[in-house]
Amino acid sequence: MSQYDHLKSDIDELVPDMVAMRRDLHEHPELAFEEVRTSGIVAQRLRTMGLEVQTGIAKTGVIGLLRGGASKPGAKTIAIRADMDALPIHEMNEINYRSTVDGKMHACGHDGHTSILLAVADILNKRRAEVSGNVKFVFQPAEERVGGAEPMIREGAMQNVDSIIGLHLMSDYPFGRVGVRAGAVFASADRFILTVKGKGGHAAMPETTIDPIVISAYIVTALQTLISRETSPLSPAVITIGKIQAGTAFNIIPESAEMEGTMRAFNAEHRTKLLRRIREIAQGIAVAMGGSCEVEIYDGCPPCVNDEKITEIVRNAAIAAVGEKEVDESEDVMTAGSDDMACFLEAVPGCYFIVGAKNEEKGANYPHHHPRFNIDEDALPIGVEVLTRAAMDFLKK
Ligand SMILES: [Zn+2]
Ligand SMILES: [Zn+2]
Repeated sequence: MSQYDHLKSDIDELVPDMVAMRRDLHEHPELAFEEVRTSGIVAQRLRTMGLEVQTGIAKTGVIGLLRGGASKPGAKTIAIRADMDALPIHEMNEINYRSTVDGKMHACGHDGHTSILLAVADILNKRRAEVSGNVKFVFQPAEERVGGAEPMIREGAMQNVDSIIGLHLMSDYPFGRVGVRAGAVFASADRFILTVKGKGGHAAMPETTIDPIVISAYIVTALQTLISRETSPLSPAVITIGKIQAGTAFNIIPESAEMEGTMRAFNAEHRTKLLRRIREIAQGIAVAMGGSCEVEIYDGCPPCVNDEKITEIVRNAAIAAVGEKEVDESEDVMTAGSDDMACFLEAVPGCYFIVGAKNEEKGANYPHHHPRFNIDEDALPIGVEVLTRAAMDFLKK
């Protein structure tokens, strides 16, 4: 029997269980680094399968290791990653598996990712005798706060791993399609805070003050020239100031103003350059106008960059699962959103791909992080098939 015989029917048999698992997780969402119940369920499932299980990695992370029965000396190891955390959003969906926790919701599909990876473990475990290498199932905490991947790597999650693959379900990408693209697919993300310091005073006597609000206004517009004048039109990047806070009354010039924003780019050099220029522009303008500016940069996440060879393996797996017509390698696969899968992809070569889960008829057409976000659950078996085939193909080579 070949490894792929009955694969589709084996996966189909698991669908009711996968849907039940996803809905159970959906009803019980847990935020970043609080995934105690979720990781408990994951660990217990993996142990029942007979895998070697490690828990408490980066607080609530879990790893299951499957040693293939057909491994020769020097056999390779592939990791498959799923994230487990939910978001601080109050669910507005009227569904019978609605979140039971006020103010918390799986609004990004990580419940689906966890359920998919458990099913992949199940399927590969049943074929253990034919698997010619090791498979590491990596269940990561805290993707949404950008924090789970890095500590897992520091604690050794990528040791002896040759490659990593993973997927994101997408509610803005049509059901039935799989997006697999080499190179950068998710952007980097850096949060920054600019604190402009001036000199407060009476609104009617500006000559005795240094107005931090006016300085801030110049900085906001000048930062956009980093995109329009210092960035190639062929190299996408974003700078957004999402928050400005200053002042207490209409007739007072305040001492300081604080601005907070995010910067997105698709390669490391561009990211480094823009971060440097944000600092130079903000400080330069503030100083030129008599004030000063403190620049703090937090929560950095690199871009997700896919390896060409591994991407080819995943692409072929996707073609086998949904047919060539439904496999997309266009720019539509790219998003200015970020994902800390990027940290794993920096540690070992791999591929992060997207699985369409948008279906208007099922109400699954709201954006990620929206209180009415949902996915078409028929995308779950597609995710399982692509990951399973890609893992087996990688180990065979
Ligand atoms: Zn998200
Ligand atoms: Zn996500």
